[in-house]
This record gives sequence, C-alpha cells and structure tokens, in this order.
Amino acid sequence: MSILSQNKLPLGSQRHFHTCHVPSFRTWVQCSVTTTTKPKREPHRLVIEPHSVPPTPSLATDGARRVINDPSLLSTWSHRAWVASGCTTVLISLAKSLAGAVNSHIWLEPALAGLVGYILADLASGVYHWGIDNYGSASTPIFGSQIEGFQGHHKWPWTITRRQFANNLHALARAVTFTVLPIDLICNDPIIHGFVGVCSGCIMFSQQFHAWAHGTKSRLPPLVVALQDLGILVSRSQHAAHHRPPYNNNYCIVSGIWNEFLDKQMVFEALEMILFFKLGVRPRTWSEPDMDWTEAAETPSQLTVS
Ligand SMILES: [Zn+2]
Ligand SMILES: [Zn+2]
Repeated sequence: MSILSQNKLPLGSQRHFHTCHVPSFRTWVQCSVTTTTKPKREPHRLVIEPHSVPPTPSLATDGARRVINDPSLLSTWSHRAWVASGCTTVLISLAKSLAGAVNSHIWLEPALAGLVGYILADLASGVYHWGIDNYGSASTPIFGSQIEGFQGHHKWPWTITRRQFANNLHALARAVTFTVLPIDLICNDPIIHGFVGVCSGCIMFSQQFHAWAHGTKSRLPPLVVALQDLGILVSRSQHAAHHRPPYNNNYCIVSGIWNEFLDKQMVFEALEMILFFKLGVRPRTWSEPDMDWTEAAETPSQLTVS
C-alpha cells in the first residue's frame, strides 16, 4: 500500500478512490484525494475513512475466489493411487510389527518404538517444514512443487481446508512408499517395524493434521478436536502462531510437542546462521515476511464458491 503516492495523482477528478488492504490489521481503508467538492477542503488532503467491508470487490477477494475454485485443489486418480500405496506400505509395516510381537511375545519394545516414532515424526515434520519454508524455489528439483505449495499456503492458509484429502497427502505418500516398501521387504523385526510404521504413518498424515489445525472447531469431527485439545495432534492455536508474524516458529505439524523446545532454544535460527556462514544462503524469514507470507484474506467462510 502506498498512501503517500496518492498525493502525486492527477487532480482532474472530483474524487479518486483507492482501496487498500492492510493484511496485518485485517481492516479495510478507503483513501480519497479531494479537490473541488463542497464543503471546500484543503487540496491534496488525504482522508482515510475506515470501512468494515470493502466497497468494491477487492483484488484479495477476487484472488481468494480464484484460489477456492482452483482445480489444483482436487484429487486425481494418481494422487489416490499414491495415497493407497503409502497406506499399504505403512499397514504392512504395522502388521509385521504386530505379528512379530505376537510370535515373540515381546510387546513393550515394539510399543515403545512406536511411541518414539510418533515423537520423532513431529520433529521430522518441523525440520522439513522449516526447510521448504525457507530455502529453494519452485524450480528446485524434487521439492519444488512442495516449496511452491507451502508458499501459496502462507498466502492463502485456509485453502488447505478446501484441498481434497489425496491431493493434500500424495507427495508425502509417495516418499513414504519409496522409503517404507524396501523396509517391508527386507526386515521382519517387530521393533523396527513398530518405529517405522508409526513414524512414517504420522509423517504421511501430517498434512491432514495440518489441515485440521486450520479447521474451525465447529466443523471438525469431535474426536479430532479432542485429540487436538489433548495435544496428541497439533492444536489449532499453536499452528495459528506459525501464520502470524514473525512467521518463523511452530513449524512442527504432527503433535506440535517439539515446537516449544525448538522455538525457545532457537534451534532453527542457529541452523539458519550455520547455513548462512557455511553456504552463504539466506532463509526467506530474514528478508520476509512480505506479501507472499501474509494472509490475503481472513476466512473463506464468507466467500461463496462459484
Ligand atoms: Zn510454513
Ligand atoms: Zn498452516
């Protein structure tokens, strides 16, 4: 928004409106340059009038509608096939862990390995999220589409709730398939499968947990809300902090149990400094947030899908 530039506009018209969206305050202002209207006002005087609703469809609202209607939010059969294969490899791993535990009568170790897998999946989700939030671009090999997707997510956070299930999970499901399938084929250890099955399952579903963290309480299944409130799944309030300035915390999206430790100890800031001094690369959070990091609209619920 450039309020000052309004003073340089031609003064031919009686009134010139410019609608400005101020994302950080989430309010609309209408800036007007008044020249010859009565009662007489000072020429070139800038008047800012608050409006709770924009007087005309805004660029942000138009953009929001475009995003909601974006066909790229829909699942394809390819997406569904990758999610099915990811789920299959995870279920085979869990079944092997269970079968091994039954045969060997060892229950505690596989269960503990599963718990460790659940805890470390949250850490892995945070490290991965921090990496793609801060480094690379849409043209980066392998991760480019994920990087682009997360940048879009920061601009339109609520669209994740409109993204269909398989569309949201297919990228991680593909990675899980390629990682877990070989382990399924060569390993029969119930403890290893306890860890692998739970960890890979949580990582694959982390994008669903993430989507639920953007949901409204009244629209989420009661079980999901209960798990969020218990801290078993990442909570809505915790993840909301990730989408507020300074946009460099609360990266973990499975349970969120690592977020407080990582943020208090400034672990990611330390990694960013190391990468900068060793490789000369700057994380996006140092030069942003800019408009690509800020919410362009607060809620989709007021927008009609057309
Ligand atoms: Zn992010
Ligand atoms: Zn998010």
